[in-house]
Amino acid sequence: MSKDILNILGVKVAPGESSTITFEVAKLHTRNTLAVPIIIERSKKSGPTVLMTAGIHGDEINGVEIVRQIIAKGINKPKIGTIICVPVINVFGFLNMNRLFPDGRDLNRVFPGSANGSLASRVANFVMKEIIPHVDFVMDFHTGGADRFNAAQIRIIQGDEKLNELAHVFGAPFIYYSKNLNKSFRNACYNAGVPILLFEGGKSFNIHSPITNTGVNGAKRVLHHLGMLNRKFKVSKPKSNVIIIEESKWLRAKYSGMFKATIDINSFVKKGDVLGHITDPYGSFNYFVKAPNDGYIFNVNESPVIYQGDAIFHISTKLEA
Ligand SMILES: [Zn+2]
Repeated sequence: MSKDILNILGVKVAPGESSTITFEVAKLHTRNTLAVPIIIERSKKSGPTVLMTAGIHGDEINGVEIVRQIIAKGINKPKIGTIICVPVINVFGFLNMNRLFPDGRDLNRVFPGSANGSLASRVANFVMKEIIPHVDFVMDFHTGGADRFNAAQIRIIQGDEKLNELAHVFGAPFIYYSKNLNKSFRNACYNAGVPILLFEGGKSFNIHSPITNTGVNGAKRVLHHLGMLNRKFKVSKPKSNVIIIEESKWLRAKYSGMFKATIDINSFVKKGDVLGHITDPYGSFNYFVKAPNDGYIFNVNESPVIYQGDAIFHISTKLEA
């Protein structure tokens, strides 16, 4: 539970107060300062402290839009406890329209970071040292890389009861069991004993309303579950039952060519069903991509041009009963 006075970077925020603290990362090469705003809302009543983050990858705009809506609608003003929002952690990548830091580092592979490391490593260190110690629970919003469109899903490790409960409350169409990657933010939170739900949905450089709605509604359900959601907000039931994916595989393109998926994301397909086709520009080649097994399609590559070996569909191979 949070202490009475929250102190981040020497700025004190008392119960009942709001504050936007700016973390000044490093100057741009033009010597302009660059700030990461940390938006804090505290209720007078004590309660948990929830952190909502996005933009660890600078190209994952859907995630940023979800946290933006949460702030714009006032969902981050809690009935009890404290909500901290950091909509754009990798502000360098966001500015440069790039997933990574200017030196090519992936912020999500340098956690927990260090004070004297690379720029990305310093940002990770800041998050772990200044913010995470105050936090009881995290929701981190991501999107699929490049043109690979992710179905809305919560990623958690298998066998963690608390995470399972919260992931079900969130109510995204899928829960996908995936291991904590070494040096990821998720792994660093796990090692710090702070539960984290990782949301994935949509693709890079894209704002997709059904995906952002799923993210915002899920966050509201979790806040409601924790007793933190302001009374003025209604909580809707998830549209469908949550499907739990235990195992999955990526289908990779057998040929280079032009690509068009014909199956809708979130669909359940039978072995042998046509999922899409790979063609050439000259009208002489048409290869039908077929499902290798029964399963749910929870990622579809939306790139119109692909190379042999590119990941084109993510399909479940084992569901939890
Ligand atoms: Zn990401």
